Amino acid sequence: MSLTSTALPDTAPRPFGLDRLMIVLGLFAYAGLLGIAWWGLSRLLPDQLTFQVFGRTISVGHVHDRLLGEAMLLLAILPFALWLECLVVGWAQSSARRMLFAPTRSIRTDMALLVLAQGHVLDLAGRVMMLGASMLSGGWMRDRIVAATGFAVDPSGLPLPVQIVIYFYVYTFFDYWTHRLDHSRWFWPLHRYHHSAEDFCVATSARQHPAAFTVIFMINLPLAILGAPPAVMIYVNVIATTVGFLIHSQMASDWGWVGRWIIQSPLHHRLHHKLDMTEPTGHFAMAPIWDRLFGTWRGTADPSLAIGVDTPYRHGFWVAPDLARDYWHFWTGHHARRLAREEAARS
Ligand SMILES: [Zn+2]
Ligand SMILES: [Zn+2]
Repeated sequence: MSLTSTALPDTAPRPFGLDRLMIVLGLFAYAGLLGIAWWGLSRLLPDQLTFQVFGRTISVGHVHDRLLGEAMLLLAILPFALWLECLVVGWAQSSARRMLFAPTRSIRTDMALLVLAQGHVLDLAGRVMMLGASMLSGGWMRDRIVAATGFAVDPSGLPLPVQIVIYFYVYTFFDYWTHRLDHSRWFWPLHRYHHSAEDFCVATSARQHPAAFTVIFMINLPLAILGAPPAVMIYVNVIATTVGFLIHSQMASDWGWVGRWIIQSPLHHRLHHKLDMTEPTGHFAMAPIWDRLFGTWRGTADPSLAIGVDTPYRHGFWVAPDLARDYWHFWTGHHARRLAREEAARS
Protein backbone atom coordinates (compact mmCIF):
# COMPACT_ATOMS: atom_id res chain seq x y z
CA MET A 1 0.00 0.00 0.00
CA SER A 2 1.30 3.40 -0.80
CA LEU A 3 0.32 6.32 1.32
CA THR A 4 3.19 8.49 0.31
CA SER A 5 3.06 11.56 -1.82
CA THR A 6 5.82 13.77 -3.05
CA ALA A 7 5.47 17.34 -1.93
CA LEU A 8 5.28 20.03 -4.55
CA PRO A 9 8.61 21.77 -4.99
CA ASP A 10 9.29 25.25 -3.77
CA THR A 11 8.44 27.45 -6.73
CA ALA A 12 9.37 30.87 -5.44
CA PRO A 13 9.51 33.38 -8.34
CA ARG A 14 12.84 33.32 -10.12
CA PRO A 15 14.28 36.02 -12.38
CA PHE A 16 13.30 35.77 -16.04
CA GLY A 17 16.45 34.10 -17.38
CA LEU A 18 17.66 32.72 -20.70
CA ASP A 19 16.00 29.34 -20.04
CA ARG A 20 12.57 30.94 -19.75
CA LEU A 21 13.16 33.08 -22.82
CA MET A 22 13.93 29.88 -24.72
CA ILE A 23 10.70 28.32 -23.44
CA VAL A 24 8.65 31.33 -24.60
CA LEU A 25 10.36 31.42 -28.01
CA GLY A 26 9.89 27.67 -28.33
CA LEU A 27 6.15 28.01 -27.70
CA PHE A 28 5.82 30.75 -30.34
CA ALA A 29 7.82 28.69 -32.85
CA TYR A 30 5.69 25.62 -32.13
CA ALA A 31 2.41 27.55 -32.40
CA GLY A 32 3.60 29.02 -35.71
CA LEU A 33 4.53 25.61 -37.11
CA LEU A 34 1.22 24.14 -35.95
CA GLY A 35 -0.68 26.98 -37.64
CA ILE A 36 1.23 26.50 -40.91
CA ALA A 37 0.74 22.73 -40.80
CA TRP A 38 -2.97 23.15 -40.18
CA TRP A 39 -3.33 25.76 -42.96
CA GLY A 40 -1.43 23.50 -45.38
CA LEU A 41 -3.39 20.39 -44.49
CA SER A 42 -6.77 22.06 -44.83
CA ARG A 43 -5.72 23.34 -48.30
CA LEU A 44 -4.38 19.99 -49.47
CA LEU A 45 -7.04 17.69 -48.04
CA PRO A 46 -10.58 17.90 -49.38
CA ASP A 47 -13.32 18.09 -46.71
CA GLN A 48 -14.92 15.03 -48.26
CA LEU A 49 -12.71 11.97 -48.87
CA THR A 50 -13.79 9.05 -51.04
CA PHE A 51 -11.69 5.93 -51.55
CA GLN A 52 -12.03 2.31 -52.64
CA VAL A 53 -11.44 -0.61 -50.24
CA PHE A 54 -11.93 -4.16 -51.57
CA GLY A 55 -14.15 -2.89 -54.32
CA ARG A 56 -16.35 -0.89 -51.95
CA THR A 57 -16.56 2.90 -52.04
CA ILE A 58 -16.01 4.48 -48.63
CA SER A 59 -16.75 8.13 -48.09
CA VAL A 60 -15.59 10.22 -45.10
CA GLY A 61 -17.17 13.63 -44.56
CA HIS A 62 -16.16 16.65 -42.44
CA VAL A 63 -12.50 15.65 -42.68
CA HIS A 64 -11.25 19.08 -41.52
CA ASP A 65 -13.41 19.12 -38.38
CA ARG A 66 -12.45 15.55 -37.52
CA LEU A 67 -8.76 16.26 -37.99
CA LEU A 68 -8.94 19.41 -35.88
CA GLY A 69 -10.95 17.65 -33.16
CA GLU A 70 -8.56 14.70 -32.98
CA ALA A 71 -5.40 16.78 -33.13
CA MET A 72 -6.49 19.58 -30.82
CA LEU A 73 -5.90 17.82 -27.50
CA LEU A 74 -2.54 16.20 -28.20
CA LEU A 75 -1.04 18.82 -30.50
CA ALA A 76 -2.38 22.03 -29.02
CA ILE A 77 -3.94 21.91 -25.54
CA LEU A 78 -1.58 19.43 -23.88
CA PRO A 79 1.64 21.05 -25.22
CA PHE A 80 0.29 24.48 -24.24
CA ALA A 81 -0.41 23.32 -20.66
CA LEU A 82 3.01 21.59 -20.45
CA TRP A 83 4.74 24.70 -21.74
CA LEU A 84 2.95 27.04 -19.38
CA GLU A 85 3.79 24.84 -16.41
CA CYS A 86 7.43 24.64 -17.53
CA LEU A 87 7.56 28.42 -17.75
CA VAL A 88 6.28 28.80 -14.19
CA VAL A 89 8.11 25.98 -12.38
CA GLY A 90 11.18 25.49 -14.62
CA TRP A 91 12.26 22.45 -16.66
CA ALA A 92 13.64 20.48 -13.69
CA GLN A 93 10.23 20.34 -11.91
CA SER A 94 8.07 20.20 -15.03
CA SER A 95 5.63 17.41 -15.87
CA ALA A 96 7.18 17.27 -19.36
CA ARG A 97 10.60 16.31 -17.95
CA ARG A 98 9.16 13.83 -15.48
CA MET A 99 6.95 12.20 -18.13
CA LEU A 100 9.84 11.89 -20.58
CA PHE A 101 12.80 11.10 -18.32
CA ALA A 102 11.69 10.26 -14.78
CA PRO A 103 8.15 8.83 -14.76
CA THR A 104 7.01 7.48 -11.38
CA ARG A 105 4.56 4.55 -11.23
CA SER A 106 1.73 7.02 -10.82
CA ILE A 107 2.83 9.13 -13.81
CA ARG A 108 3.08 5.96 -15.93
CA THR A 109 -0.60 5.32 -15.23
CA ASP A 110 -1.46 8.91 -16.21
CA MET A 111 0.42 8.53 -19.49
CA ALA A 112 -1.16 5.15 -20.27
CA LEU A 113 -4.66 6.57 -19.76
CA LEU A 114 -3.83 9.58 -21.94
CA VAL A 115 -2.70 7.33 -24.79
CA LEU A 116 -5.63 4.91 -24.40
CA ALA A 117 -8.10 7.80 -24.41
CA GLN A 118 -6.56 9.24 -27.58
CA GLY A 119 -6.62 5.85 -29.28
CA HIS A 120 -10.37 5.61 -28.51
CA VAL A 121 -9.68 2.39 -26.57
CA LEU A 122 -11.24 3.88 -23.43
CA ASP A 123 -14.23 5.03 -25.47
CA LEU A 124 -14.91 1.47 -26.58
CA ALA A 125 -14.23 0.00 -23.13
CA GLY A 126 -16.56 2.62 -21.67
CA ARG A 127 -19.35 1.70 -24.08
CA VAL A 128 -19.15 -1.93 -23.03
CA MET A 129 -18.77 -1.18 -19.31
CA MET A 130 -21.69 1.28 -19.36
CA LEU A 131 -23.81 -1.28 -21.24
CA GLY A 132 -24.21 1.15 -24.14
CA ALA A 133 -25.46 4.07 -22.03
CA SER A 134 -22.70 6.33 -23.36
CA MET A 135 -24.27 6.17 -26.82
CA LEU A 136 -27.38 8.06 -25.68
CA SER A 137 -27.51 11.21 -27.72
CA GLY A 138 -28.30 14.55 -26.10
CA GLY A 139 -29.38 15.99 -29.46
CA TRP A 140 -31.89 13.15 -29.92
CA MET A 141 -33.33 13.72 -26.41
CA ARG A 142 -33.57 17.45 -27.09
CA ASP A 143 -35.50 16.87 -30.32
CA ARG A 144 -37.90 14.54 -28.46
CA ILE A 145 -38.50 17.15 -25.74
CA VAL A 146 -39.05 19.92 -28.31
CA ALA A 147 -41.47 17.68 -30.24
CA ALA A 148 -43.40 16.76 -27.08
CA THR A 149 -43.49 20.13 -25.28
CA GLY A 150 -42.56 22.79 -27.83
CA PHE A 151 -39.97 24.00 -25.30
CA ALA A 152 -36.49 24.79 -26.59
CA VAL A 153 -33.63 26.96 -25.35
CA ASP A 154 -32.10 28.82 -28.27
CA PRO A 155 -29.09 31.00 -27.45
CA SER A 156 -28.27 31.80 -31.10
CA GLY A 157 -29.26 35.48 -30.71
CA LEU A 158 -26.39 36.11 -28.26
CA PRO A 159 -22.80 36.95 -29.34
CA LEU A 160 -20.49 33.92 -29.38
CA PRO A 161 -18.22 35.05 -26.44
CA VAL A 162 -21.33 35.57 -24.25
CA GLN A 163 -22.61 32.10 -25.18
CA ILE A 164 -19.21 30.61 -24.33
CA VAL A 165 -19.14 32.26 -20.88
CA ILE A 166 -22.76 31.28 -20.12
CA TYR A 167 -22.33 27.65 -21.19
CA PHE A 168 -18.96 27.39 -19.40
CA TYR A 169 -20.71 28.24 -16.13
CA VAL A 170 -23.66 25.97 -16.98
CA TYR A 171 -21.13 23.22 -17.70
CA THR A 172 -19.25 23.78 -14.42
CA PHE A 173 -22.55 23.76 -12.50
CA PHE A 174 -23.42 20.28 -13.82
CA ASP A 175 -19.79 19.19 -13.45
CA TYR A 176 -19.91 20.28 -9.79
CA TRP A 177 -22.93 18.10 -8.98
CA THR A 178 -21.58 15.18 -11.01
CA HIS A 179 -18.35 15.41 -9.07
CA ARG A 180 -20.24 15.43 -5.75
CA LEU A 181 -22.14 12.33 -6.85
CA ASP A 182 -18.81 10.74 -7.84
CA HIS A 183 -17.71 11.18 -4.22
CA SER A 184 -20.80 9.42 -2.85
CA ARG A 185 -20.15 5.96 -1.40
CA TRP A 186 -21.75 4.22 -4.44
CA PHE A 187 -19.87 5.99 -7.21
CA TRP A 188 -16.58 6.49 -5.35
CA PRO A 189 -14.85 3.26 -6.60
CA LEU A 190 -14.96 4.60 -10.18
CA HIS A 191 -13.86 8.14 -9.27
CA ARG A 192 -11.28 6.79 -6.79
CA TYR A 193 -9.24 5.81 -9.84
CA HIS A 194 -8.64 9.50 -10.57
CA HIS A 195 -7.82 10.23 -6.91
CA SER A 196 -5.34 7.35 -6.75
CA ALA A 197 -2.67 9.59 -8.33
CA GLU A 198 0.21 9.82 -5.86
CA ASP A 199 1.49 13.09 -7.23
CA PHE A 200 0.27 15.70 -9.66
CA CYS A 201 1.38 15.72 -13.27
CA VAL A 202 -0.38 17.61 -16.09
CA ALA A 203 -1.51 14.27 -17.56
CA THR A 204 -3.22 13.25 -14.26
CA SER A 205 -6.24 15.05 -15.69
CA ALA A 206 -6.60 12.18 -18.19
CA ARG A 207 -6.61 9.53 -15.45
CA GLN A 208 -10.35 8.83 -15.51
CA HIS A 209 -12.09 5.47 -15.25
CA PRO A 210 -13.75 4.70 -18.62
CA ALA A 211 -16.94 3.58 -16.86
CA ALA A 212 -17.43 6.92 -15.07
CA PHE A 213 -20.84 7.31 -16.69
CA THR A 214 -22.21 9.99 -14.36
CA VAL A 215 -20.76 12.51 -16.84
CA ILE A 216 -23.17 11.42 -19.58
CA PHE A 217 -26.34 11.83 -17.56
CA MET A 218 -25.28 14.74 -15.44
CA ILE A 219 -23.36 16.88 -17.97
CA ASN A 220 -23.63 15.85 -21.61
CA LEU A 221 -27.39 15.28 -21.70
CA PRO A 222 -28.43 18.40 -19.73
CA LEU A 223 -26.15 20.62 -21.83
CA ALA A 224 -27.58 19.28 -25.07
CA ILE A 225 -31.12 19.64 -23.73
CA LEU A 226 -30.32 23.22 -22.71
CA GLY A 227 -29.49 23.95 -26.32
CA ALA A 228 -25.69 24.23 -26.12
CA PRO A 229 -24.69 24.65 -29.81
CA PRO A 230 -21.91 22.22 -30.86
CA ALA A 231 -19.60 25.11 -31.87
CA VAL A 232 -19.95 26.69 -28.41
CA MET A 233 -19.35 23.34 -26.74
CA ILE A 234 -16.06 22.97 -28.62
CA TYR A 235 -14.81 26.21 -27.03
CA VAL A 236 -16.18 25.23 -23.60
CA ASN A 237 -14.44 21.85 -23.89
CA VAL A 238 -11.16 23.49 -24.90
CA ILE A 239 -11.34 25.78 -21.83
CA ALA A 240 -12.36 22.94 -19.49
CA THR A 241 -9.63 20.61 -20.85
CA THR A 242 -6.97 23.32 -20.49
CA VAL A 243 -8.06 24.08 -16.92
CA GLY A 244 -8.12 20.32 -16.21
CA PHE A 245 -4.49 20.00 -17.25
CA LEU A 246 -3.38 23.12 -15.35
CA ILE A 247 -5.02 22.25 -12.02
CA HIS A 248 -3.06 18.95 -12.00
CA SER A 249 0.22 20.72 -12.77
CA GLN A 250 3.20 21.28 -10.50
CA MET A 251 2.37 25.00 -10.18
CA ALA A 252 2.23 25.63 -6.44
CA SER A 253 -0.11 28.57 -6.79
CA ASP A 254 -3.61 29.58 -5.69
CA TRP A 255 -3.83 32.08 -8.60
CA GLY A 256 -4.88 34.92 -6.23
CA TRP A 257 -8.41 36.29 -6.76
CA VAL A 258 -8.73 34.32 -10.02
CA GLY A 259 -8.37 31.07 -8.06
CA ARG A 260 -10.73 32.29 -5.36
CA TRP A 261 -13.54 33.42 -7.68
CA ILE A 262 -13.17 32.62 -11.40
CA ILE A 263 -11.33 29.34 -12.10
CA GLN A 264 -10.04 26.66 -9.74
CA SER A 265 -6.29 26.80 -9.03
CA PRO A 266 -3.78 23.91 -8.68
CA LEU A 267 -3.54 24.45 -4.89
CA HIS A 268 -7.33 24.36 -4.47
CA HIS A 269 -7.48 21.18 -6.55
CA ARG A 270 -4.65 19.73 -4.45
CA LEU A 271 -6.80 20.27 -1.37
CA HIS A 272 -9.60 18.36 -3.14
CA HIS A 273 -7.21 15.40 -3.71
CA LYS A 274 -6.07 15.24 -0.05
CA LEU A 275 -5.16 11.81 1.27
CA ASP A 276 -6.55 12.39 4.75
CA MET A 277 -10.33 12.19 4.31
CA THR A 278 -11.26 12.22 8.02
CA GLU A 279 -12.80 15.61 7.26
CA PRO A 280 -14.86 15.56 4.02
CA THR A 281 -13.13 17.06 1.02
CA GLY A 282 -14.24 20.23 -0.79
CA HIS A 283 -13.42 22.16 -3.97
CA PHE A 284 -15.42 20.06 -6.41
CA ALA A 285 -15.97 22.81 -8.97
CA MET A 286 -13.86 24.09 -11.81
CA ALA A 287 -15.52 27.46 -11.12
CA PRO A 288 -15.13 28.32 -7.38
CA ILE A 289 -18.48 30.10 -7.29
CA TRP A 290 -20.35 26.76 -7.02
CA ASP A 291 -18.24 25.62 -4.04
CA ARG A 292 -18.93 28.94 -2.34
CA LEU A 293 -22.68 28.76 -3.04
CA PHE A 294 -23.13 25.14 -1.98
CA GLY A 295 -20.88 25.14 1.10
CA THR A 296 -17.87 23.13 -0.10
CA TRP A 297 -15.32 25.95 -0.14
CA ARG A 298 -12.45 25.14 2.22
CA GLY A 299 -9.45 27.39 1.65
CA THR A 300 -6.08 26.75 0.04
CA ALA A 301 -3.77 23.75 0.30
CA ASP A 302 -0.27 23.78 1.57
CA PRO A 303 1.94 22.79 -1.40
CA SER A 304 3.29 19.90 0.69
CA LEU A 305 -0.17 18.42 1.42
CA ALA A 306 -0.15 14.65 0.77
CA ILE A 307 -2.56 13.46 -1.93
CA GLY A 308 -3.88 10.01 -2.88
CA VAL A 309 -6.23 7.34 -1.50
CA ASP A 310 -5.89 4.70 1.22
CA THR A 311 -6.73 1.84 -1.19
CA PRO A 312 -3.68 0.11 -2.70
CA TYR A 313 -3.04 0.58 -6.44
CA ARG A 314 -0.54 -1.19 -8.67
CA HIS A 315 -0.10 1.81 -11.01
CA GLY A 316 2.30 1.59 -13.96
CA PHE A 317 1.62 1.24 -17.71
CA TRP A 318 -0.40 -1.96 -17.30
CA VAL A 319 -3.65 -0.35 -16.15
CA ALA A 320 -6.13 -3.21 -16.69
CA PRO A 321 -5.99 -4.80 -13.17
CA ASP A 322 -6.68 -1.54 -11.31
CA LEU A 323 -9.45 -0.57 -13.75
CA ALA A 324 -11.10 -4.00 -13.50
CA ARG A 325 -10.85 -4.08 -9.69
CA ASP A 326 -12.48 -0.64 -9.35
CA TYR A 327 -15.22 -1.59 -11.81
CA TRP A 328 -15.89 -4.75 -9.76
CA HIS A 329 -15.99 -2.73 -6.52
CA PHE A 330 -18.56 -0.40 -8.12
CA TRP A 331 -21.01 -3.12 -9.16
CA THR A 332 -20.61 -5.21 -6.02
CA GLY A 333 -20.97 -2.23 -3.67
CA HIS A 334 -17.73 -3.40 -2.04
CA HIS A 335 -16.74 0.08 -0.86
CA ALA A 336 -20.23 1.02 0.34
CA ARG A 337 -20.49 -2.18 2.39
CA ARG A 338 -17.06 -1.59 3.92
CA LEU A 339 -18.14 1.90 5.00
CA ALA A 340 -21.38 0.52 6.47
CA ARG A 341 -19.37 -2.07 8.45
CA GLU A 342 -17.03 0.62 9.76
CA GLU A 343 -19.96 2.81 10.78
CA ALA A 344 -21.62 -0.12 12.56
CA ALA A 345 -18.38 -0.93 14.41
CA ARG A 346 -18.10 2.69 15.60
CA SER A 347 -21.67 2.95 16.93
ZN1 LIG B 1 -12.87 14.15 -6.89
ZN1 LIG C 1 -8.11 15.86 -10.04
